[in-house]
Amino acid sequence: MYVTVKLLNGCQQRLTYSIPSSWQLSKPQGAVVTVPLRQRTELALIEEVIEKPTTHYSIKEAITYEPILSEPLYKQFMQRLSAYHALDPVYLYKRLCAFLKQSPEKIETNAPDNTSFTTPLQAGTHLTHEQQHIVDAIAPYITNTTYQPCVLHGVTGSGKTEVYYRLMQHAASLGKAILFLLPEVALAAQFAKLFRARNELNIPIFDFHSATSAPDKRALWQALRTEQPLVAIGVHLPILLPLRHLGIIIIDEEHETGYQEKKHPKINTKEGALLRAATHQIPILLGSATPSIATLHNVNQRGWKLFTLEKRFSGAFPDVKVVKLTPCKEKRAYFWISKELEQAIADRLSKKEQILIFINRRGYSFFVQCSTCGSIVTCNNCSVSLTLHEGNILRCHYCNFSMTLAPEHVCLQCKGTTFIKKGIGTQQVVTIIQQLFPYARIDRADLDATINRKKWQKTIQAFHNQEIDILVGTQTITKGYHFPHVTLVGILWADIQLSMPTYNAAETTLQQLIQVAGRAGRQHPNSTVIVQTMLDHTLYTYLPEERYRDFYAYEAEHRHLLCYPPFVRFAEIELRHSRQEIVEKESAHYADALADHIKKDTATAITILGPAQPPVHKIKNMHIRKIYLKAEKISDLSNLYQTLQAIPWQSTIFFTPNPLTL
Ligand code: ADP
Ligand code: ZN
Repeated sequence: MYVTVKLLNGCQQRLTYSIPSSWQLSKPQGAVVTVPLRQRTELALIEEVIEKPTTHYSIKEAITYEPILSEPLYKQFMQRLSAYHALDPVYLYKRLCAFLKQSPEKIETNAPDNTSFTTPLQAGTHLTHEQQHIVDAIAPYITNTTYQPCVLHGVTGSGKTEVYYRLMQHAASLGKAILFLLPEVALAAQFAKLFRARNELNIPIFDFHSATSAPDKRALWQALRTEQPLVAIGVHLPILLPLRHLGIIIIDEEHETGYQEKKHPKINTKEGALLRAATHQIPILLGSATPSIATLHNVNQRGWKLFTLEKRFSGAFPDVKVVKLTPCKEKRAYFWISKELEQAIADRLSKKEQILIFINRRGYSFFVQCSTCGSIVTCNNCSVSLTLHEGNILRCHYCNFSMTLAPEHVCLQCKGTTFIKKGIGTQQVVTIIQQLFPYARIDRADLDATINRKKWQKTIQAFHNQEIDILVGTQTITKGYHFPHVTLVGILWADIQLSMPTYNAAETTLQQLIQVAGRAGRQHPNSTVIVQTMLDHTLYTYLPEERYRDFYAYEAEHRHLLCYPPFVRFAEIELRHSRQEIVEKESAHYADALADHIKKDTATAITILGPAQPPVHKIKNMHIRKIYLKAEKISDLSNLYQTLQAIPWQSTIFFTPNPLTL
């Protein structure tokens, strides 16, 4: 038998090999084999079986095949995942193989070594009635291998982890493998540690993410080859693992947009996991305190099962107060700290309770503006403003370009020499609060500080030990942490992201606010969240966690009216080129070509939006244009995109189904 293959080393050419008849591969298509190439051997994916080779060269025989990568369900999944993203399946195999060889990245995020201040898990914990009910309802899907998406809407601190753990135990007891996904490497590392420490599963628990060491990856691969049941914990990559006898997939913090990869091709791991569960006919559990609108829509429309945990395990829900930041109506020392917040801080300090102050930005202040002409200091390579950091360093958050704002700096537009610093950042907040409360012990934990992992860990540990009274931070302090003595959370500028031009800005803003607010009162009956905002917004009425599903009703109606997801499906087509004229011309041509095809095919209704210049339209000197497509099914959009890929475009073009971020 002869086959054509594509090498997994990135070489685009198709090669022909013969397959030894002794292998008895009944369906060779999509199998992974090793083939000889010159003096080496290479991994390759079989594309097609051919009758008679057309090449004149002598044809060599494939050497081995990878049974685990050639397993029918796995092949089917890889096929479906690549089709969904309009990718060559070779890309996915290449990614997996390259990753297995890659040396680990240093975790530059915030996994603390000491897990004592994260959710503790005790062996032999008795489940509550509510928890037991959920476990009992989902476990049979594992036993009977039934595809069933299940949603666990559990308020912050309601004991979701315990439910996950029991379901994992059930799967493990049946000799089945488990995929457990979290939206960040740091969280994945933390959960893996927690689960290992509890030591009740009797199957190995493997980390599988960018911080996993080479020996650990090899050990995992070995376990996969022997088809041993195991748990794989990670962010994106675990869904690509060739696991047989998969029992359940669990996705925590399912609402996180971080499940969509940030770099092209932006594979959506959550959707991948759903495809995987459907392929293997197994349950998938999506857990969150703030399930995504799309997920709740699927509960309403597509038979996904909803389970809820409505009570906190200990502590109580905080009181939420919304305070409008009106400029200078009242006399106060600092614009960013309202009278209400100042008083609340003083009150909690006097009671020796702890305070978290949250701001959704890193750096000292947003940007620097010329006070003469008003132009903003921007990056040389990207269409974004530079962010001012400690020591008057201006840095681009897209390409890392940096420069010093020297006293002799002149404005490129008007040659002006005076500049104003605008916005607010964690460091500035620390300075302000320190001035208001000279005796308070204050520190900050944001992305800047976390580049130094040791420093981050020390800060978190010190806060946990109550050696710090007030912790000022960004997103990094929102997820997973459990600080029992925090009774006040201050959110400085809640509407900062609300004006982002994305259809889901309200959803992601509310989710983040609830997650931050959820850090208050974890073990205290009396806690407060103060939400400062520039603008009024209905959104804030949904801040108490008990009201989250009312937000769903509100938001769903809104999106239905405007024809936004989840009522339609979106896809994004992005064109990039180093020359602006080319990307401009080609994006217009591209949209025309799309329109032509849509006109020809009257059976499928597709709407084109754009081409448009996105808010960030130049990154690392590449100019960007975007086109959005709307339809009922993603497959209609990926098919259309693939048809147009036959045209030799000069720009690099990327297709993203269901884009969640800009
Ligand atoms: P969530 O993930 O929903 O925010 P956690 O899983 O962190 O909540 O649980 C909150 C707290 O409740 C943790 O300290 C956890 O150990 C505790 N907990 C959860 N379930 C139980 C139980 N059945 N019995 C005792 N404590 C529990
Ligand atoms: Zn830049």
